[in-house]
Amino acid sequence: MLKFQDRYPLKNLTTLQIGGPAKKFVIISSEKELIEAIKFAKQQNLPFLIIGGGSNLLVSDEGFEGLIIKNEITGISTFQESPSTSLGTRKPTWKVSVKSGTVLQDLVNFADEKGLSGLQDLAGIPGTLGGAVFGNAGAYGQTISDHLVSVKTLNINNLAIEQFSNNTCQFEYRSSIFKKNHYVILEATFLLKKNGVESLKEESSNILTKRAVKYPPGIKCPGSFFKNLVVADLPKEVLSKIPPEKIVYGKVPAGSLLEEAGARGASLGGIEIADYHANLFINKGEGTAKDFYNLAKKYALKVKEKFVVTLEPEVQLINLPPLN
Ligand SMILES: Cc1cc2nc3c(=O)[nH]c(=O)nc-3n(C[C@H](O)[C@H](O)[C@H](O)COP(=O)(O)OP(=O)(O)OC[C@H]3O[C@@H](n4cnc5c(N)ncnc54)[C@H](O)[C@@H]3O)c2cc1C
Repeated sequence: MLKFQDRYPLKNLTTLQIGGPAKKFVIISSEKELIEAIKFAKQQNLPFLIIGGGSNLLVSDEGFEGLIIKNEITGISTFQESPSTSLGTRKPTWKVSVKSGTVLQDLVNFADEKGLSGLQDLAGIPGTLGGAVFGNAGAYGQTISDHLVSVKTLNINNLAIEQFSNNTCQFEYRSSIFKKNHYVILEATFLLKKNGVESLKEESSNILTKRAVKYPPGIKCPGSFFKNLVVADLPKEVLSKIPPEKIVYGKVPAGSLLEEAGARGASLGGIEIADYHANLFINKGEGTAKDFYNLAKKYALKVKEKFVVTLEPEVQLINLPPLN
C-alpha cells in the first residue's frame, strides 16, 4: 500500500537542500508501485515528477503543486555474455542490468568489486542510475552511456514498457532523449569487460580523493550549475572571443567564462559561488531558490555580454521559469 504524504518539504530531498513543499509525495520501490503512483496522479489530475537522489535539481521556494515520486527501485544483476577465447586473447564480457533507483556509487562499487571495467571513473557522482542516464552523467572522460546497451522505460502516456537501444537514446553531452520526452527510466543494461579488481578500485579511489577537494563532504549544491560549451557547436565569431587556453577536451568550461565575468566568490543572500570554482553555486545554510536563480541569471547575462554565448543550466529547474 503506497503511503502518500502531504506538503512534503522538497528541501529534504535535494542535495542543495532547497525547495518548498510538494503537494503530494510518495516513495516507490517496485515497477508495480510506480504504475500505481502514476495512476493516482492521473486520477487526481496532478502533475507528477519522478526523482532519484535529487542531486541535479533546483526546486522553487514555492515547491511543486503535484506528486513527487521518489524512485527507490533498486537491484543489480549480471550475466556472462561471452567467455574469454581459448587463447585468452579476448577479455570476457558481462551484461549488467541495473534498476533505475540504484545509487550510482553502489553500481560503481559493484563493478569494481567484480573487476568489470567501464564505470570506475563515475565514482563519486551522487544520485541514482536513472538520473545519470537521464542527463548522460559523466566525469573524467567517462560517461554513463559509454558501455550502455539498452534502456527499459515506462511510457507515462500509455503505461507501456518500451526498450531503447543505445543509438536510439540520443545521448549527447549531458543530454539524452529522456530529457525531451515522457518516459520513466526503469532499468539500464551495460556490457562490461573483465579487468583487474585492484586497478579499478584504485582508479575509483583516486577520483574520489580528487572530487573531495572540489566537493567537500556536506557541501549543499547541485553539482556544476551550467553546462560546458561544446566547441564544435560554437559559431566562429563566438569562438574568436574565447581564449584558446580555456578549451579543455573540446569544451569551453562554463566555469572559466563565469570566472572572467567575475562570478568567483560572488554571493546573494545565502547562496555563494565557490571562490575556487565559478560554476559551483553553494547553499550556505539559509539560501533560497530565488537567490540562487537570480545569482545564476546575473552571471549568465554577464557571460552573454562578454562572450556572446548563452549558458544553459545542466541542473533541472523545477517550477521556475527558464533561465534564458
Ligand atoms: C556534489 C555533486 C557533484 C556532481 N558531480 C557530477 C559529475 O561529475 N558529473 C555529472 O554528470 N553530474 C554531476 N552531478 C550532478 C548529479 O549528480 C547527476 O546529474 C546525477 O546523475 C543526477 O541523478 P539523481 O538521481 O540525483 O537525479 P535527480 O536530481 O533526482 O533528477 C534529475 C533529473 O532526472 C530525472 N530523473 C531521475 N530519475 C529518473 C528516472 N528513473 N526516469 C526518468 N527521469 C528521471 C528527474 O526527473 C530530473 O529531471 C553532481 C552533483 C553533486 C551534488
